[in-house]
This record gives sequence, structure tokens and C-alpha cells, in this order.
Amino acid sequence: MTAETVQVVVIGGGATGTGILRDLALRGISAILVEQGDLAHGTSSRFHGLLHSGARYAVKDKEAARECLEENMILRRIAPNCVENIGGLFVQLPEDDPAYAEQWLVACAEAGIKTEEMDLQELRRNTPILNAQVTRAFKVPDCAVDGFRVLWSNVNSARRHGARLLTYHRVIGIRQSNGQVIGVELVNELTGEKKYIACDMIINAAGAWAGEVAALAGLEINVIKDKGTLVAYNHRLTKQIVNRLRPPGDGDIFVPHGTITIFGTTSVTVNDAACTKPGDSEVAELIKTGQDMIPELENYRLIRAFAGVRPLYQEGNSAGGRDVTRNFALLDHQEKDGLQGFISIVGGKFTTFRLMAEKTVDLAAKRLGVTAACRTAEEPLAAPVDPALLERGKRVFGVPGAKKAADRLGDSFAKVVEEAERNPDQRKIFCECEVVSLAEIAHVAQDGDSFTLGDIRRKTRMGMGTCQGTFCSYRTLGALSGYPQFAGNHKDYLTKFLQKRWKGIRPVMWGQQLREAQLSSAIYCSLFGLERMK
Ligand SMILES: Cc1cc2nc3c(=O)[nH]c(=O)nc-3n(C[C@H](O)[C@H](O)[C@H](O)COP(=O)(O)OP(=O)(O)OC[C@H]3O[C@@H](n4cnc5c(N)ncnc54)[C@H](O)[C@@H]3O)c2cc1C
Repeated sequence: MTAETVQVVVIGGGATGTGILRDLALRGISAILVEQGDLAHGTSSRFHGLLHSGARYAVKDKEAARECLEENMILRRIAPNCVENIGGLFVQLPEDDPAYAEQWLVACAEAGIKTEEMDLQELRRNTPILNAQVTRAFKVPDCAVDGFRVLWSNVNSARRHGARLLTYHRVIGIRQSNGQVIGVELVNELTGEKKYIACDMIINAAGAWAGEVAALAGLEINVIKDKGTLVAYNHRLTKQIVNRLRPPGDGDIFVPHGTITIFGTTSVTVNDAACTKPGDSEVAELIKTGQDMIPELENYRLIRAFAGVRPLYQEGNSAGGRDVTRNFALLDHQEKDGLQGFISIVGGKFTTFRLMAEKTVDLAAKRLGVTAACRTAEEPLAAPVDPALLERGKRVFGVPGAKKAADRLGDSFAKVVEEAERNPDQRKIFCECEVVSLAEIAHVAQDGDSFTLGDIRRKTRMGMGTCQGTFCSYRTLGALSGYPQFAGNHKDYLTKFLQKRWKGIRPVMWGQQLREAQLSSAIYCSLFGLERMK
């Protein structure tokens, strides 16, 4: 078993864990993040992608609403390439309680959230897809956020300050000596190799798995696992994010993102954090509810369904689902359980990940005797792209291709443009839906953290558009065959990738999506002979 030493091991490569890694690194604390899958393996890639303004929580929890608003403004400032500042709408339908709207307006004002009532004629002109019976509509400062991009930006920023990342490493043991944690035991999920990292402190940011990780240290944390199903439409249904103006419930948020719209969600308590299979009945129920806001919803083309598990922290053992707070809990196990060097951070929202990280690292720094202050709200996550570089990018990738690649790649965009300028072959677009070039695919294949087609997909969005990988996955695999990590059985790489896509396509297979699935299966099974591929 190999061994290394570090001050802090962070467990969990979601928004919370990567935010903590960055904060530790900026304060000069040596740290390594360990993640059992790729980054965003958990809930941080299985959400609406709504950077809340706080309006959704204003009535129920003013403090949480205020936190959302502050974090929303910080992320827009430090990571403009990760945020689409498109604004949000809250719309009231005739069956919604008018008194709630009044209560909501007062609560938003108290939380400092700017609301502006819209003229209903203007609303119908701008958003004709919405139910014509909408009785009131308000603008709020909601935004869309790209989870993958935020997570990788956090890690890249942390790495610039000396932090390390180990993906595909699952924590299987926590070693202690005299009431103090001393290290973690890991298994490499790709090779089976075991590893040991000695440390002074462990931060458990394992989201819906936080209870299981705490149990490795002999501790108990009550995390309610609350599954939510979402669906993705093949285009932007609305210009802005649309929320329903009523107490938070199922099927009441539409978030336009890049080339698609995400609509959700549901709330069902599950036993397993890995329970992310979207159910057929949940999808049907979701669409039925969404028709209240968009009556023609069932006629629009869905490209996939997916599900995430909310980690909801509960002190006792009472109710689950929407009754449990969406706030976060910072657990100092030295005080709580007498185990030194072990901290858990549970619950919260994607929107508040930076604040959660700040509070966690404040505690970690105090315990480690470090006095450096938090800098994550001020330091940009990635430098803005130089306009001259963007112009060069447009010459090699075209206008939309260059803009998308610049946002996705952040600081690495310059390298990819240089490569495409040097080698015209690299300018080829491999994924037409998301406009991803060979140069971009080659760049992420070389970064040392890409081991599967899925890893390439999450970093570039290859295979995430309307065709769901029908045309681009085969081409991408061909281009990757020269890299050592893709030197194995090609049929395995491709079938694993297509099966994961299939998991999301299957519950929405009707109309155009059914035709697309048939085309995809004809291409792979007949034309390319997938069954016989070696
Ligand atoms: C359906 C749904 C919609 C949502 N919509 C929104 C929204 O629009 N806006 C918003 O702000 N929030 C939203 N949320 C909440 C938000 O997505 C989550 O609060 C947030 O992503 C949790 O991040 P995390 O880093 O704490 O957990 P995760 O992202 O789950 O990260 C935890 C990581 O720990 C890893 N891990 C677990 N065990 C181990 C181990 N033993 N060894 C190594 N690694 C391990 C996991 O693989 C995982 O990647 C939504 C949640 C759901 C379910």
C-alpha cells in the first residue's frame, strides 16, 4: 500500500468539497480531495442548475434566502463563465393562493431580494409558451449555473495554490489513534489498488453519503436522502428561469441552460445515495404538473430524464422530504463526539457551496492554528478571456464554437486555440450539438483526470446535446485511441458510455426521441457492428 502525507483530506468531489479544497489552498493549508468517481459524480451534476436569488426560500427561511442572494452575487462576480445571468420569473396561476404572493413580496423585500411586477401583456409577448391564465408575474435576480464548470474551476484554482485531486478513489477506512484521526484508506475504483494518506484532519463533504463516511469513523449522522427527478428538453423553452409563485412543491421550476431546458423536480425519500434512476411514473407525474404552467409541455421534445439525491440533515429522526430544512449543518466531531480532526458538512444548496466551504475552513483553520482569512469571495475563479484571444478562437472554431469553448475551458482556452492554429485537423467539430472540437477533446484527454468517455463528456459537454451521443461518441473514441488510458477494449468504453446515456433516454422514449433512439441503435448495432466490436 502506497502512503503520502498531507494536512487535510477532503472527502467528496461535489460543489462543497471542491469549494473547501479551494478555500484551504488559498489559506496555504496543504490538502488533497478524494472522490470515488469523477468530479460531480454525486448531486452536483444532478440538479436544476439554478443559482437561486433566494426568492424560492424567502417565505419559509429568510436567513437561507439572504445567503442565496449574497452567494448568487459573489459567484456572478468571481465566475462569470459559469453563470448565465438570465434572470427569473415567479408566476402565479388562478388556483394559487393570492395571499401567498403578498406574503412572498414582503419576505423578499425583508431579505433584500429585488422583485419587479411585470405587465401581463408584456409577459405574454415575451413568454407566449406560458399559461395565458397567469394572474401575476414578478422578475427576480435568479441565474443559471453550470455545475461541472464550477467544480473544475474550483479544483483548477486550488491546484494553482498547491492542492491535489484524486478522482476514482473511494475512502474505505478512517484510521484513528488516541481520539485523533490520522489518515484515510482508499481504493482505486479503476485498478483496485489500495492507498493510504496520513493527515491531521479529515473533512467529510460526501453529500448524501456523509452518513456512510461518518460511519467509517464509528460516528452517526442522520442524513435524509431525498431523491428528485428532472427532465431535459431539447431547446430553451423560455428566455428566463420560471418558478411557480406558491410554497415550494413538485414540478415548479424551469431553467434554460445552454441549448436545453431543465425542468423539475420531485421529492421522494430513498435508502441509497446512488439511487439515481429516474422512474417512469415520476417523469409522467412531473410533466402533468408542469402543464399547469406550460399547457403544451407534453408536445415538446424531451432528450432525457435524470435524478439526484438531496443530502438533507436532520438532528433527530423526524419527517423527510420538503419539510426538512435546505440549510446546512457544520458538525465539529471534536466537540460533538470527542474525535479530534474530523469535521462534517452536510445539507445546503449548490448556490451556497462557497459559504459552506468558508464556514468549514474557518473551523478547520482554527483547529490547525492557521490564521489566514478566507479569500474565495474576492479571488476570481478563472481569468476573463482576452478579447483578442476570443477573436483568434472565432477564426479557428467559428463564432458559437469559440464562445462556448472559451466558457468551458476558462484558463485553458489559449492552449486549445494555439493547438488548432498550429494543426488545422484539430479544428474539426466532433460534437455538433454542443460545438466541441477535436482540439478540446484532445486537451481534456491529456489532463490526467480523464479515464472514461463520460469524463470527457462532463468536461466538454460532448454527447450532452439533442443527439445524446449518437454521432459524436464513436468519433471521440476513435480520436482517443492513441491515449494510454483508452488503449483497452473499445467496445467496453463505448457500451458503458451509451448505456449511461440510455439510462436517461429510456424514461422519455416517445415522439422524436424514440425516432432518435432508433437511429442511434441502427447506427451502433447495424452499421458499426457494436456487438462484434473488439
Ligand atoms: C433534484 C435536485 C435539484 C436541485 N436543484 C438545485 C438548484 O437548482 N440549485 C441549488 O442551489 N441546489 C439544488 N439542489 C441541491 C444541490 O444540488 C446539492 O445541495 C449540492 O449539489 C450538494 O453538493 P455536495 O458537494 O454537498 O454533494 P455531492 O455533489 O453529492 O458531492 C459528494 C461527493 O462525495 C463523493 N463520495 C461519497 N462517498 C465517498 C467516499 N467514500 N469516498 C470518496 N468520495 C465519496 C460522491 O461520489 C460525491 O461526488 C438540488 C438537488 C436535487 C437533488
